[in-house]
Amino acid sequence: MTPPNRFTQARLDMVTNQLEPRGINDPYVLQAMRDVPRHHFMPERYHRFSYHDRPLPIGHNQTISQPYIVAFMIQSLELQEPKNAIILEIGTGFGYQAAILSRVVKHVYTVERIEILAENAKENLHQLNYLNVSIKMGDGSYGWYEHAPFDGIVVAAAAPEVPNPLLAQLKPNASLIVPIGEHGRQYLLKYTAVEDDFHQETLSHVAFVPLIGEYGWAENY
Ligand code: SAH
Repeated sequence: MTPPNRFTQARLDMVTNQLEPRGINDPYVLQAMRDVPRHHFMPERYHRFSYHDRPLPIGHNQTISQPYIVAFMIQSLELQEPKNAIILEIGTGFGYQAAILSRVVKHVYTVERIEILAENAKENLHQLNYLNVSIKMGDGSYGWYEHAPFDGIVVAAAAPEVPNPLLAQLKPNASLIVPIGEHGRQYLLKYTAVEDDFHQETLSHVAFVPLIGEYGWAENY
């Protein structure tokens, strides 16, 4: 048997030390976190930190999310039938969360406002043969109307208040996970579409980069 390479071992340790003790127990999410090479979604100079318990810079003032947060957001969707689920992600970055989602659900639609990041993400996902992800360049605060409604929506950037178009693109009983609040400190909120209303729940404190767009912050906030 070939010994696992250093990244594989670091990834298994990441799951055991960072995710399981903090309550990540969805078997699909755990398996995806073990399988997807996080180092593939960041500049090479950060590779030695790739399985550390933190976000890392990917350029353009943006970051790759902390592994725990990625796992927590996806688990919080509480998908009833993950293998049939169609999910929308806002804020693709280099594509890490989209990659994790792609291993858990049927199809991922993801929107990124910075063109070079969207292109990088496309390339990263393609190289790994993760083909069930569609990426669009644009303002994701509008959602992706053509493919709505979704079985779940995750937003990887923080908005001043919940973007209404995203709520409108949820299927019945589906949830939107979105950080809301001031720069650098926000609450991660979960909105679930129930009958003609939305049930709101506060999940945790978080620190995301800003969602910039029509239903987010202004460019020069
Ligand atoms: N999902 C990524 C995290 C990316 S950081 C991961 O798994 O690592 C958040 C991303 O949101 C940034 O790339 C930023 O450019 C993007 N973003 C900010 N506002 C946006 C908007 N209105 N529409 C789409 N993407 C946006």
